[in-house]
Amino acid sequence: MNNLPLLIIGQGIAGTVLAASLQQRGIPFVIVNQSRNETASKVASGLYNPIVLKRMKPVWNAAAMIEALYPFYDYCETISGCKFHYTNKVIRVFKSVKEQNDWHAIASSETFGHHLNPDVQFDAIEGIETPYGFGEVINSGRIDTELFLSAMRSHWLETGNYVEAPFHYTDLEVNENEVHWQGTTYQRIVFCEGYRCQLHNPFFKELPFAATKGEVMQVVPQDSEWELRYIVNGGVFIMPLPNQEFKVGATYAWDTFDEGPTKEALQELEQKFQEITHLPVTITGHRAGIRPTVRDRRPLLGWHPVHRKVGIFNGLGSRGILMAPWLATVFVEAMQNDTALPKELDINRFTF
Ligand SMILES: Cc1cc2nc3c(=O)[nH]c(=O)nc-3n(C[C@H](O)[C@H](O)[C@H](O)COP(=O)(O)OP(=O)(O)OC[C@H]3O[C@@H](n4cnc5c(N)ncnc54)[C@H](O)[C@@H]3O)c2cc1C
Repeated sequence: MNNLPLLIIGQGIAGTVLAASLQQRGIPFVIVNQSRNETASKVASGLYNPIVLKRMKPVWNAAAMIEALYPFYDYCETISGCKFHYTNKVIRVFKSVKEQNDWHAIASSETFGHHLNPDVQFDAIEGIETPYGFGEVINSGRIDTELFLSAMRSHWLETGNYVEAPFHYTDLEVNENEVHWQGTTYQRIVFCEGYRCQLHNPFFKELPFAATKGEVMQVVPQDSEWELRYIVNGGVFIMPLPNQEFKVGATYAWDTFDEGPTKEALQELEQKFQEITHLPVTITGHRAGIRPTVRDRRPLLGWHPVHRKVGIFNGLGSRGILMAPWLATVFVEAMQNDTALPKELDINRFTF
């Protein structure tokens, strides 16, 4: 590897995590990003959790992802001088004795042992009915994604690593050994454009993206100081934020690139919220974003089959916060050592 910088396109969760991983290893980079108000990364609840609670299955490779996550976000908090990582526990509220028993059995098994507390909890939680108790997920929490992205951007504006601009593909010159953009030579370019990649990117738009739109709402309680220590899961998540606000999410809709929030999704969120709590609330916000999901539910990492200096770091789907630090480590180490990426992650599993 030569010592020229890498050019990263996009500063959502993907581009930010990849850039910070390069910085950790002393590899120079420049990020080009067009800021938008409503991207998946800004709208995201920022939750991480090693379990797919709906299906009661561990996330693929969760243990390695959790192990990479803590030191990585610590590092980002240190270099940006900003706190955005909160370790509130995720809990699953049970609706029956059967769910209690299932939890205990699953949580005691070897596969889940590190991720779930097998003991059913019965502490009272204000505003939430828990006649059958609840289960606690170990190693869960959240990143305030808007703060994370803006803190890292401010840091990179100061260090000269960030350019605010739309990236036009026609400005790029690619050859066998490097790439050129606006008069500067870079060792490689990596596209981290989220779902927009599938709309416009001439190198990678044929990859099998299956983007999923998601919506979240923000609420404040009408007549009480509601204190919620946990992130509550029961159909949707209710997540405490600073200033007595709560985020409720999220919905899933396929086959749409319409970025705006919808009445239908808001109704769905309100209804699911009321299934968890009857506390009266006022809706103070409602936002939508499009997740870069992939047909086989695995990330899209790797290098173009013809243009070997043109890469992609994408396909984070609905778990960018959990997956990105580990994926970035794998991606950067494979690049440094000139070794193959794991086949489940490498875009060469597809012909495009
Ligand atoms: C409602 C909702 C809730 C979610 N909740 C969670 C959650 O709790 N936990 C979790 O882990 N994940 C969550 N996600 C998923 C998470 O948001 C995604 O995994 C992640 O944001 C994907 O990040 P990205 O950087 O790939 O894409 P994006 O967020 O889309 O970022 C791409 C960036 O690249 C820029 N860009 C694109 N093309 C160009 C170009 N040509 N030139 C310049 N700039 C460009 C865009 O403007 C943007 O800034 C949620 C998503 C949604 C929609």
